[in-house]
Amino acid sequence: MKQKLLSVLMLAAAAHVSAQVTDAMIAGSAADTHSVLTWGMGTQGQRFSPLTTINTKNISKLVPAWSMSFGGEKQRGQESQPLVYNGKMFVTASYSRIFAIDVKTGQKLWKYEHRLPEGIMPCCDVVNRGAALYDNLVIFGTLDAQLVALDQNTGKVVWKEKVEDYSAGYSMSAAPLIAEGLLLTGVSGGEFGVVGRVDARDPKTGKLVWTRPVVEGHMGYKDGKENGITGTTNATWPGETWKTGGAATWLGGTYDAKTGLAYFGTGNPGPWNSHVRKGDNLYSASTVAIDVKTGKIVWHYQGTPNDAWDFDGVNEFITFDMDGKRVGAKADRNGFFYVNDATTGKLINAFPFVHGITWATGIDLTTGRPNFVDANRPGDPAAAGGDGKKGASVFAAPGFLGGKNQMPMAYSPKTQMFYVPTNEWGMDIWNEPISYKKGGAYLGAGFTIRPLYDDHIGSLRAYDPKTGKMAWEVKNNAPLWGGVLTTGGDLVFWGTPEGYLKAADAKTGKVLWQFQTGSGVVAPPITWSDGTDQYVSVVSGWGGAVPLWGGEVAKKVNMLEQGGSVWTFKLAK
Ligand code: CA
Repeated sequence: MKQKLLSVLMLAAAAHVSAQVTDAMIAGSAADTHSVLTWGMGTQGQRFSPLTTINTKNISKLVPAWSMSFGGEKQRGQESQPLVYNGKMFVTASYSRIFAIDVKTGQKLWKYEHRLPEGIMPCCDVVNRGAALYDNLVIFGTLDAQLVALDQNTGKVVWKEKVEDYSAGYSMSAAPLIAEGLLLTGVSGGEFGVVGRVDARDPKTGKLVWTRPVVEGHMGYKDGKENGITGTTNATWPGETWKTGGAATWLGGTYDAKTGLAYFGTGNPGPWNSHVRKGDNLYSASTVAIDVKTGKIVWHYQGTPNDAWDFDGVNEFITFDMDGKRVGAKADRNGFFYVNDATTGKLINAFPFVHGITWATGIDLTTGRPNFVDANRPGDPAAAGGDGKKGASVFAAPGFLGGKNQMPMAYSPKTQMFYVPTNEWGMDIWNEPISYKKGGAYLGAGFTIRPLYDDHIGSLRAYDPKTGKMAWEVKNNAPLWGGVLTTGGDLVFWGTPEGYLKAADAKTGKVLWQFQTGSGVVAPPITWSDGTDQYVSVVSGWGGAVPLWGGEVAKKVNMLEQGGSVWTFKLAK
């Protein structure tokens, strides 16, 4: 009898230890309210939870359940979205750290600090945006361009793979994406003349399955064999420029099982000076849709051809249903909101989501191309009459930090509205001559970011993707830099650099609740339920690109304090 009890206990313990995240679980993760298995709260990235326990009627009773500090002197920007599974929260932190936390109590279970070499070159703070779960592993990318897979229970390293050469400017900051049993990752480093790409690996071993460069002219590989060149060499890039063409895939991707496509945004072409690379510069500043099975690009849509303003088109492409059709939406750094057919890429709608855009008057819905304002492109330093050292300076809006940046928006199938964290700012920008040097900044541009309005830079805006009409907005003094969550309880949650996690009525935008987290919030909130209580969590810790690159805006927000903690809330009984 004793023996039997013991073996039952051992079986139970084994079952607990071997709890595994499966492909089926990831496929169903958007509807699974007990876990948060992926970045984006589902591979489509909608950041919608059907939970209604916390709602517009009782949100005033939302109070902290626990808070946990990342500790140490390593603070800086905390842009991470936590994951929740099997009683644990997995959250990455600045300087390539990851923590496992008891989700009930907030107690730290284990921590892994990646040993970073001297000479890493992250452009925009030492951030990480989150991890991926697969099998018994938690997997994340590091600032020295490696992937590390740890045992969820022990924090021990199971595998580690070098993705690229950090001394050439490569790094990793995005959460990996699991799709069709593969681990899909991009690369960061667009300011250093890297070549953007998407890699697919076996998530259990880290072994490379396919790699797809997103700059025209570069060869893709699958199972160790050539898998076709991306695009047509020199079709949209002159001379050798494609070899250092940028288009970093630094925000990762989304995936839709209905189309079998993974959607990755691509960053600015290199260098910033557009005059040395005349042409569209495919597939920079674009959305690329990749067939996960073949590792080939099925369609692309380019928001900013021949980009001259650092309009990285990396922003998340979120698929949803509109008029009975599977489509996808993206609020681009260039200030326009796009809706494309998710299967073919055909442009369906496009409208500005910030005021005062200078570089284009609109998007031609027939050709899909922007109507450029040629006079508002920074001047060519080599133009006749110039000194060859500095081209004509122009004022451009949005500024290069974008109408929207890394902070992901949310979509509610209930209200059929997108909740977009926007910023309104401009910049003076001019071009300079530049040549490529490995590991050196590859810009050929100078710039100063400036505020446009006295009463706000940030604004959370609700948009109808069909009409392009703004339903409501909540303005914010500092630029918004965290992401958004929306719920079946008709709530929208988002954080501010001033330190607040806020909740508004999804239909009206009325702010119903806020909580001061002690440092700036530049990360997306999540929610889940243990069957009794619904919880909301968010990471707090001011930093990211704004204090480093924000010019006049950085001066305006330099009183904000750094931090590093994760907060979890539930309703008071
Ligand atoms: Ca960039």
